[in-house]
Amino acid sequence: KIDHNIYACYISRVDFGTTLLFVDITASKKAEKMRSEFFSNVSHELKTPMTSIRGYSDLLAQGVVQNDKQKQMMLEKIQTEVDSMSRLINDILMLSRLESMDIEAEMMPLKMRGIVEEVLESYEVELAKHDICMEYDFEDVTYIGNHQQIYTLLNNVIGNAIKYNKDHGKVYVDIEEQGDGMKIVVEDTGIGIPLADQNRVFERFYRVDKGRSKQRGGTGLGLAIVKHIVSHYKGTISLKSELNIGTTIEIVLPQQKRT
Ligand code: ADP
Repeated sequence: KIDHNIYACYISRVDFGTTLLFVDITASKKAEKMRSEFFSNVSHELKTPMTSIRGYSDLLAQGVVQNDKQKQMMLEKIQTEVDSMSRLINDILMLSRLESMDIEAEMMPLKMRGIVEEVLESYEVELAKHDICMEYDFEDVTYIGNHQQIYTLLNNVIGNAIKYNKDHGKVYVDIEEQGDGMKIVVEDTGIGIPLADQNRVFERFYRVDKGRSKQRGGTGLGLAIVKHIVSHYKGTISLKSELNIGTTIEIVLPQQKRT
């Protein structure tokens, strides 16, 4: 019995008989489904902030809001929504660049401590606001990689350890040489991820707590991007997490060639 969803069947008649050729199209069907799900997710993610921007700007344009404080609040909401849309678009561009992989990224020696500090600078406000303590006292490691990709990888993993932490929590970052490559460990004392969700957090747009993710500037694409970068470098990633105790992400990246 042939499953017509899975196989495309080609029949060709030649002089001395019939040839049947079965081609497995499961992968292409799956890819097509993923593509259409992705577009519907992106449309939905963009629609929400756009509706809110349209609503507030209409009210401001009609001049119905007289109160200066209210006007200010609406302008700030518009700014927040624009920021969230631009983060989403940047993440989509990053994913599409990683997926096409036709342009080889420039690989050069990177000082890992410097990149961690660069990442932390962008979270200064968040760290102070929630009194989160950062620990990273590792010896500097030099790794050949693409600056934008390695920065994005660390930014997403460390960013999550900060975003999903508790007030007065801790984030511990360790990077060390492992074989020819390096091992990155990011550990937090945050809210943790329920067991049932642990496999799914690497899927695009999968969030355990949508409200918290959005409120902290998440796009739902961070770990999907990390997974892509890790597989691009032929590395491995593992996640351990306990609800209300914290999460540990471990990434091992083998040595790369300089270009
Ligand atoms: P987001 O942009 O929403 O942070 P990610 O792809 O980076 O998206 O992560 C997916 C989801 O996994 C997050 O929405 C969050 O629910 C959960 N998550 C990721 N990292 C952590 C962490 N360190 N602690 C707790 N939950 C996390």
